Amino acid sequence: MISKLDCMKLNGTSLNIPHKAVADIDEVGDNHYLTSLDTPLREDAFELSNEEKIDQIEAHFYEIMQIMGLDMEDESLSGTPRRVAKMYVNELFSGLDPENMPPATLFNNNYDYAQMLVEKNITFFSTCEHHFVPIYGKAHVAYYSSGKVIGLSKLNRIVQYFSRRPQVQERLTEQIAAELKSILQTEDVAVIMDANHMCVASRGVRDTHSSTVTAAYYGKFSDPRVREELLHYVSQKTV
Ligand SMILES: [Zn+2]
Repeated sequence: MISKLDCMKLNGTSLNIPHKAVADIDEVGDNHYLTSLDTPLREDAFELSNEEKIDQIEAHFYEIMQIMGLDMEDESLSGTPRRVAKMYVNELFSGLDPENMPPATLFNNNYDYAQMLVEKNITFFSTCEHHFVPIYGKAHVAYYSSGKVIGLSKLNRIVQYFSRRPQVQERLTEQIAAELKSILQTEDVAVIMDANHMCVASRGVRDTHSSTVTAAYYGKFSDPRVREELLHYVSQKTV
């Protein structure tokens, strides 16, 4: 936890930046660390209303652009701070707010379908929490019904909800798996994510060809034969 605070003054706005964090960033460099399955949110994360958050982010983003020497009187730039603030709160990071969690209606598995169900190639857009640039790619999710099923589009919505946070791909994968296990009341779930990280492609090592694959296999998916069946479906050409 934060032990020592360093107070920085930025045009009248005081920013509290822990000393320790500053030292660690230099040590860590570009390495991506995963600290917990839960997105690290403070307890007071929802004390401000969305409107208040937008107003404050707008003011700070204005400062960032100002510091970079941009002419904030310019017609093309003057609306950017508010545009970015609204985009952060209402779109890119709307998955931080549990109120936006998609409601999940369960149905009985009336067809007695007993095989795995795979929804593949779910497009997702997320944001790398270390660089605040996009992570985007495809997610494949699978489960065996424990007697209940959910609408197919709910699977997309669950993937999208957890994507709309500052993320680390490993955590994103596990958060989706945990949610599916909880909603579907089964351990038999799998999530595979194949993603491009703009922090790798557009800066740093600038590798535009690599992609990152993460997977979470639970219950029946721990069996290599079941996993093989899943990977076969995922690798098949889409209809
Ligand atoms: Zn990154």
